[in-house]
Amino acid sequence: MLSVRGLAVEYGHVQALRGVDLDVRAGEITAIIGSNGAGKTSMLMAISGLAPVTAGEVRFDGQPITRRPAHEITKLGITQILEGRQLFADQTVEDNLLLGAYTRLGDRRRVRELIGRELDRFPILRQRRRQLAGTLSGGEQQMLAISRGLMSEPKVLLMDEPSMGLAPLLVQQIARTIRTLREEGATILLVEQMASVALRLADRAYVFENGRVSLTGTGRELADNPDVKRAYLGG
Ligand code: ATP
Repeated sequence: MLSVRGLAVEYGHVQALRGVDLDVRAGEITAIIGSNGAGKTSMLMAISGLAPVTAGEVRFDGQPITRRPAHEITKLGITQILEGRQLFADQTVEDNLLLGAYTRLGDRRRVRELIGRELDRFPILRQRRRQLAGTLSGGEQQMLAISRGLMSEPKVLLMDEPSMGLAPLLVQQIARTIRTLREEGATILLVEQMASVALRLADRAYVFENGRVSLTGTGRELADNPDVKRAYLGG
């Protein structure tokens, strides 16, 4: 569904990606793991049209989308859930969900259905639906960020560090949510520092090092790889 070839991203003199090839297949979870600064977020940003691409190509459903503006890429069906969540803190939970559906606000009935679906997915959000997003706990904010992303019914969901800053139990809950999304047929590109969580979820995974792909394989293959174990899974 997504095919990335020879992608380079540069911020001034900082080379964040140096010729990356990556594929995301429909209905699969593809994970990117790697240390701080390896270029994981830059990969998602480049696909979303938010990072300076200096070489290479991104194709979505066979069509080149490299350097198209971010709002056009969103409309094509690629939604990114940003690291750090970036909710509208002074808006209610329900308004944040509505804003997630801004590409289809004309279709009120569908938007209502989608809000219902998301409040069923995370019942705690139903209880909090009139509360300002800024007053939610970290875990609740992450749930809202995921739900807001799903309001646009994306063909591909790009998730950046959904476990960041969460307690272990909440990390497990978010992991279960991601697995359920896959069972519902979602296509997900997941960036995650917690390699053990990512590799358990992933059909296919990539290890990024210094702006390059150093290893790729199924989630299981990488989880069993001695180098990956040593570097990313605590031995
Ligand atoms: P982390 O897990 O810490 O978020 P990452 O693997 O997602 O790391 P990136 O955020 O993609 O890595 O960063 C790759 C490199 O590009 C780093 O050296 C980073 O400092 C640099 N970088 C990222 N964004 C910018 C920017 N807007 N301007 C300048 N340099 C940047």
